[in-house]
Amino acid sequence: MAITSPQVHIARTQICEIGRRMYAKGFIASNDGNISIKIDNRRLLITPAGVSKGFLEPDDIIMCDMSGEVIAGTSKPSSEIKLHLEVYRKRDDVGAVVHAHPPYATGFAVARIPLTICILPEVVISIGSIPLASYATPSTDELAEVVSPHLEKNNAILLANHGTLTIGEDVFEAYYVLERIEHLAKVSLIARQLGGARPLGEEELKKLAEVSGGTVEVGEIEKRCSNCGVCGKPVNNKLGSQDTKVGDNQGERNGLKVDNNVISSIVDDVVKKIAEG
Ligand SMILES: [Zn+2]
Repeated sequence: MAITSPQVHIARTQICEIGRRMYAKGFIASNDGNISIKIDNRRLLITPAGVSKGFLEPDDIIMCDMSGEVIAGTSKPSSEIKLHLEVYRKRDDVGAVVHAHPPYATGFAVARIPLTICILPEVVISIGSIPLASYATPSTDELAEVVSPHLEKNNAILLANHGTLTIGEDVFEAYYVLERIEHLAKVSLIARQLGGARPLGEEELKKLAEVSGGTVEVGEIEKRCSNCGVCGKPVNNKLGSQDTKVGDNQGERNGLKVDNNVISSIVDDVVKKIAEG
């Protein structure tokens, strides 16, 4: 395929459009954030480094090969290109990657508190678990390394003390995941200020699986819930009985997650050892 083609031009304009939306929504400040689209198995388009993504023109977008070498473009590609390349290496199904610093989701990432998915029906259905990747210096190989293990199953990842990484089949999907997790983070924070979020109960989650029309199985929801790491309990373990508040008994505040089940099993072990003399 030629360097310019209708397909490439459309992808360039889509990146500009998503950049404008991210900037207008306050998901990025100043020159932050980066967006890429995979053109084919050998090439991607990516935003340039050091410019606001709110005012991009199609010609500003850089074309690179899958090792990060520039094929077409007059400026340097985003310094986070390694992160984007790692996603495409790991996931064949992904056509676009969006990295941003949305304030609410980034607030959770800075406080190192994972986002709970089982408090909003649309999040349970549309997004899998949202892991929190350990901190790594932006734009280094190390960042790609800490994110890599989370890529296999997740389309949204919080980057500790940094921001978000969202991926999708196309750039609109990757953007909508970003929009959704930022909305989730905002609602989570408000619920916390009002005394704590109450997760959906077992019955509610079962009904959600039913209305999803086979898109999501109950087992899949259970898996997502047990992976979210906040309520930390699978559905069949009485997750989200109506009077359970997220964060109440999990010691998750200050980013320290203490699972009561783990504590009880340690206490049991100690008591047993004492009894055995
Ligand atoms: Zn960043």
